[in-house]
Amino acid sequence: MILLDGFAVANERNLALKQLTDEHLRKGERLPKLAIILIGDNPASLSYVKGKGKACAVAGILHELHHLPEDTKQENVAALIETLNQDSTVDGMILQLPIPRHLDEEVLINLIKKEKDADGFHVINQGNLYQKRPTIEPATPKGIMTLLAHYDIKISGLNAVIVGRSNIVGFPVARLLMDQGATITVCHRQTKDLGFHTRQADLLVVASGKPHLVTKDMVKEGAIVVDVGVNRVDGKLIGDVDFDEVKDICSYITPVPKGVGPMTINALLENTYKLYLSHSKEA
Ligand code: NAD
Repeated sequence: MILLDGFAVANERNLALKQLTDEHLRKGERLPKLAIILIGDNPASLSYVKGKGKACAVAGILHELHHLPEDTKQENVAALIETLNQDSTVDGMILQLPIPRHLDEEVLINLIKKEKDADGFHVINQGNLYQKRPTIEPATPKGIMTLLAHYDIKISGLNAVIVGRSNIVGFPVARLLMDQGATITVCHRQTKDLGFHTRQADLLVVASGKPHLVTKDMVKEGAIVVDVGVNRVDGKLIGDVDFDEVKDICSYITPVPKGVGPMTINALLENTYKLYLSHSKEA
């Protein structure tokens, strides 16, 4: 079994970004900047935002955190997004999810200018993805594809099974894998006999948010397993795959933590840099 070491790969790529941003500095150009909007004090979100800030520092990308109270009104979040849309020093912007229930996530995400949508969640960027046009790819699916490519895993011809159909992970990762020649099965809450499907997988991507949903008996020998899930159980982070059992029968597997998580952050930074380059060209 080979561990898909997202932590090491992401770090290497963040350092490669640093070389690029250093070069801009040497030329007297401004640095890329990511604005992060965080609403409330969800401990997991606070920790993700901290990780994003640390990675920005490694990559030489500026970041600014806009931390708003839990009871912030929709119109005040909208006003902040509009200000950041107009700020020519901001290249990328993200709204850290989840946001408090009284706010409309879909509306707010789509207020972020598509040219600053570093998470790749804007409806136009997602539409472009599904029509195979140039776009900003959603960070987690992009990070997964980058990780598989780093380990030289050939996607074409594989039976890929994805557990989860969310707009930010399951569905777009299915699209990207299909584009690279995989045959796709997408499983979800209504799927009957999940194990029947997962056992067909040469490549299994699990993004269900259900701790240890996938056990050894649900995985084909030699499969490539990508565990996207992050669940806090008894103060410990665990994935949607029972790593200790499954590691003995698969060919590759991502750990949780330090697998897909750091790759998601790296993809966010690479998206921000891409947006920066397009803004610099326009200036
Ligand atoms: P979501 O809740 O939006 O979607 C979960 C999906 O799983 C749904 O489509 C649902 O139908 C499916 N599902 C749930 N229970 C199932 C079951 N028993 N059998 C089959 N399918 C089932 O979640 P999401 O935003 O896609 O995130 C999924 C997980 O990935 C969460 O644990 C989240 O924390 C994690 N996540 C990690 C990263 C990262 O960078 N590592 C990024 C995003 C999300």
